[in-house]
Amino acid sequence: MKKRNKALVVFSGGQDSTTCLFWAKKNFEEVVALCFEYGQKHHKEVEIACQIAKDAGVPFILKDASIIGTLGRNSLTDTSLKMDETIPDGSEFPNTFVPGRNLFFLSMAAVVARELGIFDLVTGVSQTDFSGYPDCRDSFVRSLNVTLNLAMDEQFVIHTPLMWMDKSEVWALSDELGVFDLVRNQTLTCYNGIPGDGCGHCPSCKLRREGLEKFLAERNK
Ligand code: ZN
Repeated sequence: MKKRNKALVVFSGGQDSTTCLFWAKKNFEEVVALCFEYGQKHHKEVEIACQIAKDAGVPFILKDASIIGTLGRNSLTDTSLKMDETIPDGSEFPNTFVPGRNLFFLSMAAVVARELGIFDLVTGVSQTDFSGYPDCRDSFVRSLNVTLNLAMDEQFVIHTPLMWMDKSEVWALSDELGVFDLVRNQTLTCYNGIPGDGCGHCPSCKLRREGLEKFLAERNK
């Protein structure tokens, strides 16, 4: 595929967005990483994201989006709420769902990108492996893409390279991109704020570990 010009990656320093950052570096001539501070409990997330971008030679932009954490209650920003490790009876999602997060992130990303003359946005959302969060689904992203184009009279393209991948396939992609060890050791996906292999028991660690085990089993066949 011929490299396109520039892309902006919505970047958190986790497994998925880090894989997307290197996917973008392969497919675009210039890449910018945009990170949001949204009141997440673990400030380390932002520091890790900044360091990974720096090591990758990618300009890093940090924007305050802390309003998101104050609009609805969720256990990623509210320290008084005990984090659900599974979906509670009678609910559709665990309380780690931050309502509107990707709607706000991608909308803000489009405005920042437009200022930079960038119309290709990259996000690591996946419909396959995300506790059913509605703002990680393909239909939502496509719909928002149309809305952003109408809102700013531009031709944005939102790229979602991980949309149909499960976690083991995301590990395989990082391996293909030559950054498996970097993703394994440096990224922070854990809801308890522990980098690399994480706490081991939060839902995010479980998903990550199961995917890793599946990938390693297949690679070593
Ligand atoms: Zn964890």
